[in-house]
Amino acid sequence: MTAQLIDGKAIAAKTRLRVAAETAEFIAATGVVPQLATVLVGEDPASAVYVRNKHVACEKVGFRNQQHTLPATTSQAELLELVSRLNGDPAVHGILVQLPLPEQIDEQVILDSVHPLKDVDAFHPENVGLIVQGRPRFLPCTPAGVQVLLRESGVEVDGAHVVVIGRSEIVGKPMGMILVQKGETANATVTICHSRTRHLPSIVRTADIIVAAIGRPNFVTADMVKLGAVVIDVGINRVGDRLVGDVDFDDVREVASAITPVPGGVGPMTIAMLMQNTLTAARLQTGGAAK
Ligand code: NAD
Repeated sequence: MTAQLIDGKAIAAKTRLRVAAETAEFIAATGVVPQLATVLVGEDPASAVYVRNKHVACEKVGFRNQQHTLPATTSQAELLELVSRLNGDPAVHGILVQLPLPEQIDEQVILDSVHPLKDVDAFHPENVGLIVQGRPRFLPCTPAGVQVLLRESGVEVDGAHVVVIGRSEIVGKPMGMILVQKGETANATVTICHSRTRHLPSIVRTADIIVAAIGRPNFVTADMVKLGAVVIDVGINRVGDRLVGDVDFDDVREVASAITPVPGGVGPMTIAMLMQNTLTAARLQTGGAAK
């Protein structure tokens, strides 16, 4: 069996086109142009690329955007002041603070300070609580992107056993929480594995769908994958001058029924979902119901 490739680039492009069309309708109806503000602290080159890509995506879907670049020596108080200013600016609908932040700044304090209606990353405790209760305002971009990939590829999630490897607040935990809910492309039986899980390979072998979010190249090998399982690789690891995922792609694709490549799988979906969330934020702040 050679797995079907799940084309994240194509699905992300389709998602962006839909958001662009809905944005044009929203602007025509309200006169309001959705705006995303990004905040970058320091000079991490990877973070700078991520932020630039987010601005390019904003322009493509018809949003305004503003970028705040602060020096690595910025204090927590200075960053809090900027977030507070953006919270109070009615022309800014979404605020994205690029992680990681320099060590003198407590990330949790900053993420908690973003207004919940402008929290397009869905990291604020109020938004996390709404997700847990099955009535999300925003879904975190990467796991939401995985759900769209599963839906668009026609993968049967209802009743399936999903094994998520990784329990981060950004990917693993919300991924499990999204797929266990009642609803479309959900209703899964979810197991979350992590660095302290015993007998991890034998648990992963029982999965109908595997979501790997570990940050270790080639962690998921073919012997861990049940014949016909669907494999979603969230990992992005730099090996020499190549980007690879967490899955041993060449071997696993001979066992799986469908698999995401790295690059070109989950990565492009993350920014597409950020655009979706920014439009939702603009709707919520102009009194329109979120779609
Ligand atoms: P993280 O470091 O916060 O979490 C990694 C998780 O893996 C932890 O919960 C840990 O328990 C688990 N883990 C580590 N070693 C393990 C082991 N030996 N056995 C089992 N579990 C183990 O990372 P993260 O932020 O969740 O990111 C995970 C990967 O996904 C990274 O490669 C990251 O670059 C990538 N990522 C990609 C996107 C995207 O847009 N595609 C977005 C976010 C993260």
